[in-house]
Amino acid sequence: MKKVIIIRYAELFLKGKNRGFFERAFETNIQRALKGFECELIKQNGRYLVQNFEEENAEEMIEKLKKVFGAHTLSLAYETASDMDSLFEAAKLLCRESGSFKVESHRGDKKYPLTSIEISRELGGKLLSCFHKLTVDVRNPSFTIRVDIREHGVALVFGEFIEGANGMPVGTAGKGLLLLSGGIDSPVAGYMMAKRGMNVDCLHFHSYPYTNEQAKEKVVDLAKILSEYTCGTHLCTVSVTHIQEAIHEKCKPEFMITLLRRFMYRIAERHALRINAQCLITGESLGQVASQTIEGMTSSNSVVEQLPVLRPLVGFDKNEIIERSVKMGAYETSILPFEDCCTVFLPDFPAIRPKLKDILYEERKLDVEGLIEEAFASLEKIRIE
Ligand code: ATP
Ligand code: MG
Repeated sequence: MKKVIIIRYAELFLKGKNRGFFERAFETNIQRALKGFECELIKQNGRYLVQNFEEENAEEMIEKLKKVFGAHTLSLAYETASDMDSLFEAAKLLCRESGSFKVESHRGDKKYPLTSIEISRELGGKLLSCFHKLTVDVRNPSFTIRVDIREHGVALVFGEFIEGANGMPVGTAGKGLLLLSGGIDSPVAGYMMAKRGMNVDCLHFHSYPYTNEQAKEKVVDLAKILSEYTCGTHLCTVSVTHIQEAIHEKCKPEFMITLLRRFMYRIAERHALRINAQCLITGESLGQVASQTIEGMTSSNSVVEQLPVLRPLVGFDKNEIIERSVKMGAYETSILPFEDCCTVFLPDFPAIRPKLKDILYEERKLDVEGLIEEAFASLEKIRIE
């Protein structure tokens, strides 16, 4: 009996006239996730079926599909003829030896000789007489056998609904530039925007040689993890070593973070405009650290002239962010102990509510344009496989 994977989509159906656009993006992303697996993708009755694959690859394919935004649920199903004997054969393969169960049926083919209730009742009865330790419990069964009668004498029989990534297909909501640090928050921020359909490219600032190769490797690894959800990404790195040195040399230490932030945002905006990104994305969360007060955000935001800065985590608690980081598979990498640039030259007492006039006063001691140009000269593009 052939196995197929059913992919049901999430919010797409809401999109009326644009539906085709969303479906095409979704389809492209599914194909991409399944690249390297021999299989066939078809659209049928408002959902997708993956068929003609090697059965031993099914689990791995489902793991990939669980990262495709737009998918609501997935199921691994048997495709069989829709007569009762065939349904029974398939159901037996899914049935446990004991425990409580129910059969749920759905009839896409309204000409099928039995109603949904009759199918469930008859199939349930057959399973009961085959497995003597089973009981029926329609309210709270320990497992469910699901039957979907399709047209042309075909049926799908499956057990579970596997939770998909939900959200919108990547590629349907423009492109953003993620400021990717080596921490916990920014990969999650990228994930959240990709979940709303956005293409995400990454920019990382380092302070080589104060930070080492391993710190860079860590960021590359995070970009790779993120790229499974973002349908690929591009990572660029820029050195802010000279900027940090200049600030360290010329400005009051309590403004180090704020001033550095303003450089990062300026560089990020220029880079974003060059790569046609339409916004900046950061992992900031209100009040999480000294630089993430509303005053801190205002001061860095005020150097960004043309693009919105999206902060998808602004209202999240740290533990909520960690939960998502674990779920997306980034946490273990994020907590590796390699320094990102912000920890170099860190002052003992950063300004918590920096005043703009004080910041501007400090900033005037620096050759802002010259430092930005120098930073851009260090730009490196890193290929994310
Ligand atoms: P994260 O866990 O993402 O590192 P954080 O809690 O350490 O965040 P900050 O260090 O204040 O917070 O950084 C706030 C945001 O600024 C980050 O989420 C990220 O978007 C951006 N950012 C910080 N450092 C870097 C960096 N070295 N390169 C690129 N972006 C950075
Ligand atoms: Mg950080």
